[in-house]
Amino acid sequence: MVSNKRPNESVDTLVIGGGPAGLTGALRLQELDATRVPLVIEAGDRVGGIARTESHRGYRFDIGGHRFFTKVPEVKAFWEDLMGDDFIDVPRSSRIYYRGCFFDYPLRVGNALGNLGLMESARSGLSWMKWRMFPVRNEENFEEWVCNRFGGRLYWHFFRTYTEKVWGIPGTEIQADWAAQRIKDLSLFKAVVDAVFKRGESTSLIKSFKYPRLGPGQLWERAADRIESQGGEVRLDIAATALQHDGERILEVELESRNGDRRRVTPRSVLSSMPLTQLVRAMNPPAPPEVLEACDGLRYRDFLIVTLVLDHADPFPDNWIYIHEPNVKVGRIQNFRAWSKEMVPDDSTASIGMEYFCHEGDGLWASDDETLIELASKELAELGLAPASSVVDGKVIRQKKAYPVYDAGYQDRVETIRQWLEGFKNLETSGRNGMHRYNNQDHSMVSAMVAAERLIDPVHAGDPWSVNVERSYQEEFRVKPRTEERVVDA
Ligand SMILES: Cc1cc2nc3c(=O)[nH]c(=O)nc-3n(C[C@H](O)[C@H](O)[C@H](O)COP(=O)(O)OP(=O)(O)OC[C@H]3O[C@@H](n4cnc5c(N)ncnc54)[C@H](O)[C@@H]3O)c2cc1C
Repeated sequence: MVSNKRPNESVDTLVIGGGPAGLTGALRLQELDATRVPLVIEAGDRVGGIARTESHRGYRFDIGGHRFFTKVPEVKAFWEDLMGDDFIDVPRSSRIYYRGCFFDYPLRVGNALGNLGLMESARSGLSWMKWRMFPVRNEENFEEWVCNRFGGRLYWHFFRTYTEKVWGIPGTEIQADWAAQRIKDLSLFKAVVDAVFKRGESTSLIKSFKYPRLGPGQLWERAADRIESQGGEVRLDIAATALQHDGERILEVELESRNGDRRRVTPRSVLSSMPLTQLVRAMNPPAPPEVLEACDGLRYRDFLIVTLVLDHADPFPDNWIYIHEPNVKVGRIQNFRAWSKEMVPDDSTASIGMEYFCHEGDGLWASDDETLIELASKELAELGLAPASSVVDGKVIRQKKAYPVYDAGYQDRVETIRQWLEGFKNLETSGRNGMHRYNNQDHSMVSAMVAAERLIDPVHAGDPWSVNVERSYQEEFRVKPRTEERVVDA
């Protein structure tokens, strides 16, 4: 089990964050050099980061549903090694709910035409042709990227509402590279060809995925146990609050426990997965003004899940349903039994996760739990999925900084920060918020593996920043060496 012992004064490698990146980085360090002793500190009360598993009266649930899917052999081997027979195969089943109808996803022509109606389908086809003939030449934002491929009407029906729910900003303010990353290789033409000739099975979409029997947190708890069994440590409820440096090296890190206790450790090296903005702001002496300004410009989207226990069997068979309906606030609905039957303790009840995208401090975020459970129950009923009276229990989990936002200028800001951090010889950063990358676990893990390699062998290791998120969905990651080599003490 994970311990909560007090830290020593002097540590080998301080790993900040006990999420997928931090835990993977610590294990990679141990694998490469058995003499390295990582100390992982996690600000929360359990490991797994956003990929943790929460539980409430025996009902287990994810922060959103977490599919385990990767094309990276090292990540696959890592997962399989830790999970063995507890890594189950889950068939993917998801639909889109829009205008009172369920659209199969991946798209099936008969179903889509039936739901849209012949007239609207014809209009959508014409709109697609118009955009093919007169595309926006330099597509810069999400709206332009999607319209160029799907046409304006399909953008309106299937992309606009959901995307704006997720990000809280118009599609014109989201950078096109987010669309290119997430909807890569999908075009209306390809979707239709696949639907007609491959019976609705788009090759671009994953048909099944792996999942730990007891949820994603099970895997990350095993990773933490492995680190400890190999001589490292994982401590919970401890945050890194300040990093003292001399411009080239991190000299000391201040740690703060949940009970307010503070202490300092002197690390030989630091592998961080805390949000990039928080890392920079924790630096003492402070970062140069342009770096702090870049931090101020980076934005996040927050998230909350209301898990409802229903007093009857599952209201739908899917793993999840996207809610494109503009009249409700919920963005996606999970059915946790469809992920693993062991997520739900009682066969006669259902466990449904209502996902809301929000900003820390906005109306949704600030609502009390009772109000949110009431709202989720009401919306579940409005969507015709289950009566509000069937909700017998509920639990709300809020997740800050769930999504790093890809808005105009974010790449330049990240680059300014990256260049400054590059000057520190015993510090590497990795992971989702650690690099401000909208990624899945596998990308976070690979970036942390490379960061760990770099702490050990800076001359020959690759560059964690070059681990390519876009390629992770379909192909292998590419890792480039850093152009400028630097010498770090091993
Ligand atoms: C709704 C949703 C659904 C998702 N679905 C999937 C999916 O289906 N499949 C998939 O592979 N991925 C999915 N992801 C992405 C996945 O959750 C992330 O890629 C992964 O968790 C990133 O790991 P990380 O370690 O980089 O960051 P995190 O998970 O954010 O972990 C960072 C950790 O650092 C800790 N920390 C932060 N600051 C400090 C500090 N100062 N001191 C100490 N600790 C600190 C945090 O508490 C956290 O535990 C999803 C994400 C969301 C939001």
